[in-house]
This record gives sequence, structure tokens and C-alpha cells, in this order.
Amino acid sequence: MRRSLLTRWFPLAVVSVLATAAVSKPNQGFNIFPIQQDIALGEQVARQTDSLYLAKGQLLERSKNARAYTLLDGVVKRVLDNGAIKYRKEFPWDVKIIKDDATQNAFATPGGHIYVFSGLIKYLDNENELAGVLGHEIAHADRRHSTRMLQQQYGTGLLLSLVLGNNPGQLVQMAAGLGQLKFSRGYEAEADKYSTIYLNGTHYYSCDGAAGFFIKAEKEASSRTPEFLSTHPNPGSRIQAIQKSAQQLGCTGKTVSNTNFQELKRLL
Ligand code: ZN
Repeated sequence: MRRSLLTRWFPLAVVSVLATAAVSKPNQGFNIFPIQQDIALGEQVARQTDSLYLAKGQLLERSKNARAYTLLDGVVKRVLDNGAIKYRKEFPWDVKIIKDDATQNAFATPGGHIYVFSGLIKYLDNENELAGVLGHEIAHADRRHSTRMLQQQYGTGLLLSLVLGNNPGQLVQMAAGLGQLKFSRGYEAEADKYSTIYLNGTHYYSCDGAAGFFIKAEKEASSRTPEFLSTHPNPGSRIQAIQKSAQQLGCTGKTVSNTNFQELKRLL
């Protein structure tokens, strides 16, 4: 009896405490959500995202695409092990490929579940560019941009009801819209900057890898606009900012082997 009462009242109490905190502390880039909520929300969104793309027959299974995943995991792991990921141990950082050659995009859910479209891998020219884009998406999750933004837009109550699984409709919508999620200019600039920091920590990649995507996209802007560019505007100024940060870190101009990257492309 005591336990069921506690279960019934606990969420309400947490909502009211968090709501009070939200009112008394207007957002200053501070996330009042504990990290466990990013993890719980991420699990739910990833489950919805998986079922969305499974239903479309586009989610590539690990068991049937072992070699492609080994190659992609290698890049992801190298970026993740850069030493500057705050939630390296707390978040699962699993990566999944969505087979859709027409979509040049990637995204990460709150709590670090990464999704990469086959179209992005096929669009990019080398592994360094892929590492740069992955670094950018990993930064969005590790810097908790999704929950900070959702908290600002919808308030803590809705976020908490998502975490608790009380709002399945909204979860489906969120999962469907994640690739199109538009972050503020400040969050985008931060993710670009962290991409250079992460790549520097790999002691392997050239830190301006993410700029490679924007340079390519800008050149081809008249013929086709990649999906990633629709949520990541102002390529010109971003290229400059990424290259400036990479130069300050002193890690530009490195060339890495593309043998694995070319094999990955062929397998998709
Ligand atoms: Zn972004």
C-alpha cells in the first residue's frame, strides 16, 4: 500500500519540484534535468526510432551487416575515445545505420544513440569528414542540447511525462522529427567547436573534418542540398569557424587512410 502510494505520487512531486526550479531559475544554459533523464528519454526515443525505420525496412541489422558495422564502429570509437566526452561511460553510444541513400544526414538522440543514414556515408569523400560530422552529432548529445532545448520549448512537465512513458504520441513525433531538429545557432556553433576538440583528442584525424562536409555541400548547393544542410545553415561562416578552431588547436592537414571508408561505402 505504502509503495503504491509512493509510486503514484512520486512523479507528481518531481514535476512540481522541477517546475518550481524552472520558474525560480530561468534557463541560463543550465539543465535542471538529471543525466538519468537524458538516458531514460534517449532509450525511449531510440526504441521509437528503431521501430519507425524497422517498419520502413531501412534499419540495417548488425547481424546481417557485421562488416559494415565493424568499419563504422571503428570511426565512432576513435572519436568517442578522445578523452573529452563528459558522459563517455554513462551513455550507451550505440550507432545504427539507416539504409536511405537519398538522405545525407546523421543525428544523435538525447542520451547518446547515434543514427547515420547510408546517404551521408556515400556523400562524403573521406573518413576524416565522417569523423567530423560524427563528432558534431556526439557533441549535441554529450552537451545535452536536445534536453536543454526541449526543456526551453516545452517545459519540464512534458519532458518528464516523456521520460516516464506517459506520452507515447509525442515520443513517436520526436523520433520522426529528430533528423529535422533545428538547434539554435549557439548550440550549432558549440557542436562545431567540440567536433574540432574531439578530433584533436584522437591524435589521428585532422580537426577540421566537419568543415569538409560544408565545403562539399556549398560547392554543390545549386544542384542538390543535403538534408544535413537544412538543419545546419550558414555553411560559409561555419567553415571559417571550424578551420579557425582547428588551426588554434594545431591539428590541420593530416591525411588518414581511406581504405576502410571506401570498403564501408561499397558495403552500403
Ligand atoms: Zn547540429
